[in-house]
Amino acid sequence: MNRPASSDPVVIIGAGLTGVSCALGLLEARIPVILLDDREYAGGQLSEIPSKIINFAGSHYRDGKEASFRLLEALNLAAQDAKRDKIALEYRRGVKVEKISLNKDKHNEKLDNFEFEVQTANTVLPCSTLVVATGYRENRLELVQGAEYLHYHGGLENEENRQQTAVVIGGGDSAFLHTLDIADLCSKVYLVARGEKLKARPDLVERLGKRTNVEMLKGLVPESIKMTATGQLLVTFLAKDEPGQKVHLPADRVFAKVGYKPNTEILHGLVDISPDGHVMVEPDFCLSQNGKRIENFYAGGDIVSGELARMAISVGHGMSIASAIIRKRFGFEY
Ligand SMILES: Cc1cc2nc3c(=O)[nH]c(=O)nc-3n(C[C@H](O)[C@H](O)[C@H](O)COP(=O)(O)OP(=O)(O)OC[C@H]3O[C@@H](n4cnc5c(N)ncnc54)[C@H](O)[C@@H]3O)c2cc1C
Repeated sequence: MNRPASSDPVVIIGAGLTGVSCALGLLEARIPVILLDDREYAGGQLSEIPSKIINFAGSHYRDGKEASFRLLEALNLAAQDAKRDKIALEYRRGVKVEKISLNKDKHNEKLDNFEFEVQTANTVLPCSTLVVATGYRENRLELVQGAEYLHYHGGLENEENRQQTAVVIGGGDSAFLHTLDIADLCSKVYLVARGEKLKARPDLVERLGKRTNVEMLKGLVPESIKMTATGQLLVTFLAKDEPGQKVHLPADRVFAKVGYKPNTEILHGLVDISPDGHVMVEPDFCLSQNGKRIENFYAGGDIVSGELARMAISVGHGMSIASAIIRKRFGFEY
């Protein structure tokens, strides 16, 4: 590689597929990277995928854990190569970014450029190029009494014991996919939706309708989860349209799958955000403020408005952002 190294590191927030793909693209072009993530492991949501991944052209993974392990391997290999080339990849795990500040670039006043400050609990990290790839997180069911018994992902406590009963709360794709995943392991699964109309994809509704050990219940709002004297859980629902009417379901494990939301709180007030909390980006993934580009400030992956949340899309976004930064710094495609 004969390109001169660029000394100014790009800061990337989020070590999911988007952030890691962007880091790999930048390192290949000899641009140093500081990668920050609030989790202790790379891969973001990947570790939460309990089932086979069949729609990612890169590989066919047994589950998300395998995919995140491979991602970490790729990151470690890239870091070793970069180190040999004297390019730094600094991967800071377990570091939550709490705030981003935009300051006018003192050296480039006329160009209307900004410099960025990335604030964590212990540090303020200044940088001139910032990428936000903070992905999705699950919606939580905090108002349910006994919410501490709820699980948001994973399987059953003891997968050897196929006599277990599970309750899955939710009526969208994630609830249906999760129910399909665990239906093989349970003797009985109740899928309980709040609405009378299911929001999940029709093909998932049809697939689940064929499972004899799955019962779908609609129009029920979760009220409480209690541990009984025998150690079993009892989940109580209120009937939405019949005041006072309650339904009690026994369960060994209760899952809440009530959708996902974008982790964009640190961007609120700084950049253009759609009403559903996703960021609006320019064709090169640059962010904007009141419709005006903020140079050197990028976002990609699940947090981008109007995109499907898919692994291949995250990889594409990450690489496209790297390509935009490379073009900007070196003036041509790598
Ligand atoms: C259950 C499930 C099943 C799925 N199945 C498939 C499938 O079969 N095929 C498919 O293509 N896609 C699937 N997906 C979607 C796919 O996993 C995502 O689209 C993709 O992984 C998103 O990558 P990302 O990098 O944009 O975000 P994420 O993976 O969410 O990564 C973002 C990272 O940023 C971190 N972060 C967030 N906020 C901060 C902060 N303030 N400071 C520091 N770090 C922060 C997060 O903790 C996370 O590690 C599935 C997702 C789920 C949850």
